[in-house]
Amino acid sequence: MAAKQAEALQSFKETIKKIKSYEEALGVLYWDLRTGAPRKGMDARSEAIGALSGDMFKLSTSPELGEWLAVLEEGGTNAGLTEIERRLVAETRKDYDRSVKIPPQLYQEYVVLASQSESKWEEAKENNDYAGFQPYLEKVIQYTNQFIDLWGAKETRYDTLLDQYEPGMTVGELDRVFGGLRSQLVPLAAAIAASPHQPDTTFLRQKYDKASQKDFSLYILKQMGYDFEAGRLDESVHPFATGLSPGDVRITTRYLEDDVTSALFGTIHEGGHALYEQNIMKELIGTTLCTGTSMGIHESQSRFWENVIGRSRPFWNRYFAELQSRFPGQLDVTVDQFYRGNNVVQPSLIRIEADELTYNLHIIIRYEMEKLIFNEGAKAADLPALWNDKYKEYLGVTAASDAEGVLQDVHWSGGAFGYFPSYSLGNMYAAQFADTMERELQGFWQLVEDGNLLPIKQWLTERIYKYGKLRSPSELIQNVTGKPLDPQYLVTYLTNKYKDIYKL
Ligand SMILES: [Zn+2]
Repeated sequence: MAAKQAEALQSFKETIKKIKSYEEALGVLYWDLRTGAPRKGMDARSEAIGALSGDMFKLSTSPELGEWLAVLEEGGTNAGLTEIERRLVAETRKDYDRSVKIPPQLYQEYVVLASQSESKWEEAKENNDYAGFQPYLEKVIQYTNQFIDLWGAKETRYDTLLDQYEPGMTVGELDRVFGGLRSQLVPLAAAIAASPHQPDTTFLRQKYDKASQKDFSLYILKQMGYDFEAGRLDESVHPFATGLSPGDVRITTRYLEDDVTSALFGTIHEGGHALYEQNIMKELIGTTLCTGTSMGIHESQSRFWENVIGRSRPFWNRYFAELQSRFPGQLDVTVDQFYRGNNVVQPSLIRIEADELTYNLHIIIRYEMEKLIFNEGAKAADLPALWNDKYKEYLGVTAASDAEGVLQDVHWSGGAFGYFPSYSLGNMYAAQFADTMERELQGFWQLVEDGNLLPIKQWLTERIYKYGKLRSPSELIQNVTGKPLDPQYLVTYLTNKYKDIYKL
């Protein structure tokens, strides 16, 4: 390696490390804000977050960083760089180009708009006032369109937005996989709704002691192999996981006294995100590759643990008696009743309350609407009617108000267009990974039935977790399962599961 390149490499790595340090500091500040920071400190805290974010942005868009990248890219093949360094250069180049293409003034305006729009959305949702929110949403769409122009439209304009959350994902690919899902899940949901064998859920609605719920959640996290010396479990209104480094991955949950499994499944979900971040190889620590490779793959890991494992019959064959023993006299049902009661499918209006099956239809609706906005020029004014038509068509339900319709999610108010598909991609990836795991890991379901979950964590570590961002989502799914993303795995998984539960 030439001296000039070696020098550039060192400066480049130092800067990346610094950016990572800013990220860690900001991560702690955000975690603290969301887990009980004193209200009176909010203004000072916002100021500190603003200052650190500003510095970090300057660092990641500096002309020097651009020069080092250019030197390291000379010759095209990054001669002399290790695989990790090459990937780091490529990822940094992508972020760098994205950031420097937006004029700082425009970005500043947008940040202010997005924060106004989010608080306007909160108000609008509370008062069922879409008209009050509409002008803000229209502006957020306008700015997003400007960003697409500056970044350069990919195959379609919406592709440019998808790529932010799921690198390499396109409308062409999503039309293919979502088309396959929609055509098979809509009739499956209808067959389930028509089944006379509807599970009983009344036993779930009692007052369940919060401390015992917490105790059991901690126990299950331990069973999954969550490392408590590299993390902690706290409470927050909206559960989340935050990976500061593999040695510090924190999660939160929310206990509902009238629901014995809501906090538990939430904990398992965030625990799945956390296992991913805790088990990234140490060679990636201190680099921006030390995180999940995409939102969709991240979501596949949380949903694999929550749904495929946590809502399975073998899991409850093993753990139900233990759960029962923590709530004496309260869970007076059989393991079969319990399992079925926790796997109810019901078309509904609210995405975050949806079951494993209909959840995907909520996502497909949002995906189709985002496509209409950015590829067909749909306006904010058109959205409530579009929304209601699609809910009627796919789920057979009609919202009584915009508050439980088009206003239910925060994402669009803050400009997070292109994010929604990640959730369903996560379900599809999870089912496809699970299919491979069942074939490769001897006696997979027996392990679950025995409460021997560590070999499962180990398999995921070897095949997925350890690579962090070193592999792209499409490389990962191809390498692990030997095939590109295929929606059929999720369809088969859901069909088998609900055929049994609803006796179809
Ligand atoms: Zn998640």
